Amino acid sequence: MTTEFGGAPAAGSGWTAGALLQLFREQDETTRATIATRSGLARSTIALRLDELIGAGLIGPAARAISTGGRPPITFSLAAESRLVAGADLGAGHLTVGLADLRGRMLGTTTRTGAISRGPEVTLADTADALDELLTAQGRSRADVLAVGVGLPGPVEHSSGRARRPPIMPGWDGFDVPAWIARETGISAFVDNDVNLMAIGERHAARPEVADLVYVKVSTGIGAGIVSGGRLQRGALGAAGDLGHLAVPGAEQVPCTCGNTGCLEAIASAPVLIRALGLESGSQIAELVQAQDPEAIAAVREAGRSIGAVLASVVSLLNPSVVVLGGQLAEAGDVLLAGIREIVYRRATPLATEHLEIVSSRTGQTAGVLGAVRLALDEALSAEAVDRLVGRAVAVRPALVAAPAAAEAHGRAGATPAASALG
Ligand SMILES: [Zn+2]
Repeated sequence: MTTEFGGAPAAGSGWTAGALLQLFREQDETTRATIATRSGLARSTIALRLDELIGAGLIGPAARAISTGGRPPITFSLAAESRLVAGADLGAGHLTVGLADLRGRMLGTTTRTGAISRGPEVTLADTADALDELLTAQGRSRADVLAVGVGLPGPVEHSSGRARRPPIMPGWDGFDVPAWIARETGISAFVDNDVNLMAIGERHAARPEVADLVYVKVSTGIGAGIVSGGRLQRGALGAAGDLGHLAVPGAEQVPCTCGNTGCLEAIASAPVLIRALGLESGSQIAELVQAQDPEAIAAVREAGRSIGAVLASVVSLLNPSVVVLGGQLAEAGDVLLAGIREIVYRRATPLATEHLEIVSSRTGQTAGVLGAVRLALDEALSAEAVDRLVGRAVAVRPALVAAPAAAEAHGRAGATPAASALG
């Protein structure tokens, strides 16, 4: 399994407490010996770093290592439930919030209806309220939450966490989401486009072995999240993957909301099919397809071909091993996939399609909240973030760093303070 952790420092250099914590994220348990081998650090330094991580409440002795009869623990693991992270998937007409432990295990989720067009303050207050509801159910508080990941259904400037001219989100253009959340809840927030988070969520929860994946959401809009070489690709400003406004080759010059004509979104999105089939809502499309309605089947298959025509270029350019279809239209299942496969396998280059799978999402409607939790985890437990957290914990509890030097003098390699800090 490839990971999204940053590259490990070379032996002996840069092994801060935050860098060491990455070893605990990769493995269920980690011994002092493993840490010594991986880091090249002296035993005394390892003891100091472990003490810092224990002091910050991020690791503890592994369960089976506790009863060693007074001897210092040699096996440690992430203190998964000592702190929490949250994820919020904000859709056009609903929001889903999830609460998870530091291993990403979901402790609870809740979904509320409410249009994102209510504006940022109302929507985010609703989101905070949903989070409080989950925290109360777990007997926890906002102070336990290290970070929240937030997915927005529109373009997000990744560096600032602000939405940029989102078409379905009046009042959100330029709104500082992380600043609002930090001020109102005291929790650090990280914001991304919802499709990027769906790509991360699908990969981590359902396809961890896949390093090159394109997740395509087909709903009101059409967008893609690109994972390449195990990493999400956002592009220079966060605009990568905006599949919906690529031109469909040979398509009619239908006007698009973006001002261009012939965009994929203007030809194959859920609203287009709803209008063409005279329906009320997007969920009826899948229902009609399942009921073998020939008109709906033909329309969905043709939408699949249009998506495939654009995806063929994406596949040739990026050579993913898996293309995952999600969103409302993906619920039409095999009919949509058949249309996409028909064109991609014909048009994309042979090497790019040799082992290519084009499949439906396994995580379905939970992809976004799973990815939001993963974003929060990766930000909150990054080496830099952990070093800041450890710095604050050390400032509060200075005795923890003073102790190892004394222990080292007795040839105990700082084991005693690590053990005592757990008492
Ligand atoms: Zn367009």
